[in-house]
Amino acid sequence: MIKTWLSQTSMYRLMIYYLGALLLAGMALSMFGILPYVWWHIGFDFAILWLSCALTSWLCAKIFRTQRNPESELITALILALIVGPLDPLIYSNLLLLAGVGAISQASKYLLAINKKHIFNPAAVAVLLAALFLHQGASWWVGDRHLLWIMVIGGALILHKLRWFHLSLSFLIPYLAVLTAQQGWRLDYLAILSPLLFFSTVMLIEPLTSPTGRRKRILYGVCTALILAGLINYSSLPYTLELALIIANFAFWWTKIKQRIILKFINKEPGAKDIYKFWFEPLKKFSFRPGQFLQWTLPHSRADDRGTRRWFTIASSPTEEKVLLTTKFSDRSSTFKQALRELKPGAEIATSDPDGDFILPIDPTMKLVFIAGGIGITPYRSMIKYLLDTKQSRDIIIIYAAKTAEEFSFKELLAQATEIGLNTIYIQTEKTGFITPEMIKKEIPDWAQRTFYISGPEPMVEAYEKMLKETGIKDAGIRTDFFPGYE
Ligand SMILES: Cc1cc2nc3c(=O)[nH]c(=O)nc-3n(C[C@H](O)[C@H](O)[C@H](O)COP(=O)(O)OP(=O)(O)OC[C@H]3O[C@@H](n4cnc5c(N)ncnc54)[C@H](O)[C@@H]3O)c2cc1C
Repeated sequence: MIKTWLSQTSMYRLMIYYLGALLLAGMALSMFGILPYVWWHIGFDFAILWLSCALTSWLCAKIFRTQRNPESELITALILALIVGPLDPLIYSNLLLLAGVGAISQASKYLLAINKKHIFNPAAVAVLLAALFLHQGASWWVGDRHLLWIMVIGGALILHKLRWFHLSLSFLIPYLAVLTAQQGWRLDYLAILSPLLFFSTVMLIEPLTSPTGRRKRILYGVCTALILAGLINYSSLPYTLELALIIANFAFWWTKIKQRIILKFINKEPGAKDIYKFWFEPLKKFSFRPGQFLQWTLPHSRADDRGTRRWFTIASSPTEEKVLLTTKFSDRSSTFKQALRELKPGAEIATSDPDGDFILPIDPTMKLVFIAGGIGITPYRSMIKYLLDTKQSRDIIIIYAAKTAEEFSFKELLAQATEIGLNTIYIQTEKTGFITPEMIKKEIPDWAQRTFYISGPEPMVEAYEKMLKETGIKDAGIRTDFFPGYE
């Protein structure tokens, strides 16, 4: 049940629930005297921050002629409410300070930005500037051990949803290792861990300021940890956490500025059953590797719980001029998909940079099996078209499973791919059932020497990964790409 809920809740909503739970718990614990704050100060501080964030963002969006993102404003206001104060809002100077911090956070998104992408984490930059110029920085009151359990649960849900445990851990492990090496095992780990857990599961992982690609993200986590350790050891500054993040944001900014991708919608074509292909023209050609994905932002009115952003694989190949998005529509589509279906030719849509490690191996002699479940064929479509266009032969067996024959997409391309050694086995699950270890062993005699790729809806990927492990394939021989949101 949790998995289904997680899969259907947008990242923004999940973050709002996590931060909201921390704020409410902070108020409740203060009410019962467990935390030393006045409970309503916390609520009022948040209200002022939220109002200031919303007003500044609204104004900046008008000036810069762009769309505001109310969910992102709310997240920044919640973060600020959890790390600043709590302050008595009835004192005029506190009121001004809170309004100022909120305003700086939003203004920084527009002013400290290149190609309309902000460089610094907005909450971190706001508290740092407030410390430098208004002489009141962050207290990090949320880093209290009584709130640790919410951070463990909320942080785990966020990292699971993003599949970004590697980023949080690549920060936590080196930082705690340096601290332990310096001070020994007698450290009060609980006290140290609380603010670090908040930092690494909320602020460090902000997708817009963290690098794309798993390796770069690990490096980013390690560098942030080392910068923090350096600042604590070699400076007397009181605002080391936020400064470490700002320095790391700046240091890794080059990885984010390469391209700003705007795609112009050209047309849509019906594909297999319930599937549509959407063709776009990039305003500026951009580079990506076959199999990678983009995060697509489609602002639309009255967006449902799932929000205005989605990840979609680039189903076209880098050898093609146009960009292809292929997706499936259900009887009751999300508002995002409804807006996508109603796009008019010429409409522009912004995306993130390409991301993802679900790509072809560098070694062309590696024997592969591609398992696709329904719409999970999209990354393979990009890889296959690329191999065909660049005339590369590879030893790849494609197992393509869908409920019925009408649900198979890109059949012509798959037939053409036999020219370069790619053979497809179609499985109609309604007739033959799901892929089994026996089926794998029968159809692929050299299965033990192959690397398996699995792509499709999340529950299907999990089930096939389990099945492959039961067949005797080790973790290292399995690569997955999951599509959340589908049942
Ligand atoms: C790396 C990556 C790559 C991806 N690539 C692709 C791709 O190439 N193609 C692709 O199609 N998907 C891809 N996805 C998945 C995609 O991001 C969406 O999650 C998925 O398409 C579901 O879209 P949707 O949420 O708009 O729901 P829909 O497709 O509209 O609906 C899915 C199900 O949820 C129900 N539903 C819809 N809205 C709501 C709601 N508000 N509340 C409750 N139930 C609702 C529907 O009735 C239906 O049963 C990818 C995901 C990732 C992470």
